[in-house]
Amino acid sequence: MDAISYERAADIAGAVRAAQQPGTMFIGGGTNLLDLMKGGVMRPMKLVDITRIQGLDVVSTLPDGGLRIGALVRNSDAANHALVRERYPLLTQALVAGASAQLRNMATVGGNLMQRTRCPYFYDTAFTACNKREPGSGCAAINGHNRMHAILGASTQCIAVNPSDMSVALAALDANVRVSGPEGERVIPFGEFHRLPGERADLDTTLRPGELITSVDLPPPLFSDHAHYLKVRDRASYAFALVSVAAALQMDGNTVRSARIALGGVAHKPWRATSAEQMIAGRPLDSATLRNAANAALSEAKPLHDNAFKVRLAQNAIVRAVNQAAIGTSGTGGAGGFA
Ligand code: SF4
Repeated sequence: MDAISYERAADIAGAVRAAQQPGTMFIGGGTNLLDLMKGGVMRPMKLVDITRIQGLDVVSTLPDGGLRIGALVRNSDAANHALVRERYPLLTQALVAGASAQLRNMATVGGNLMQRTRCPYFYDTAFTACNKREPGSGCAAINGHNRMHAILGASTQCIAVNPSDMSVALAALDANVRVSGPEGERVIPFGEFHRLPGERADLDTTLRPGELITSVDLPPPLFSDHAHYLKVRDRASYAFALVSVAAALQMDGNTVRSARIALGGVAHKPWRATSAEQMIAGRPLDSATLRNAANAALSEAKPLHDNAFKVRLAQNAIVRAVNQAAIGTSGTGGAGGFA
């Protein structure tokens, strides 16, 4: 067993100060990190507990009409918050599609952003090479079982996918991630928060050493009436996406005024299908246009030996999710919600 030091931070500045030593990690809900530590996949030298920091567990409105969701807001609380359900139903749908009710009650929004891939080789410390776990060791998935792996944006170093449903919705909504670090505060546009593997499979995000996520900020709501999150998976619950689609539209009758489409389960980060968005924006939504857009979204796909099915699956999922979004948002109302 490794020795680990532990410090409980009273405020953001204290947390940042406490995290300057290399090998330090922040811990909130711990739903992914503790599993990884128990399995020896991650071996932090120090944990900084951020759960007692005041103000990070709050949802608040922003002056521009947007919404700030504190990093310590539980996934279930974010999903069921009245303003999230009313203004950002896409986010509610994505959150309740993730994990189990028990995990959503414990996991935080900041932790959800930081969760690691579920590539099985990443978790197998005994036998397999994994550049994400041990840089330079190789990638067992490339010639192994890779049915769940990436079809877009992968590298020769890593073909893993990001497992977060929430992040797919946040990518479509153009959220921002606020962080505090040794050099002060900064805001990271959501599309730049997660990264593709390139030559550094071990890095999932663009966070700098010692930076703490403090909130996710949503821009003013544009898509509350026409949003749909579709998750295709092997089981109806508690399974990661084979493919998911976050679709958000602004409609004028049958014409798409603007569109946002993000894919999950296909890449190392949530994947914005900007070419598809542009192909349907400003036009009546007909089946030929939508099918062409869905095909364009996957035009650069490079499937592996076990996952060629994901290309067609993603194309069909885009068609279905966008059609459902055009009909109108459903699924966030009703007593009791999803969680
Ligand atoms: Fe590791 Fe990435 Fe290869 Fe999986 S795909 S074994 S996480 S390097």
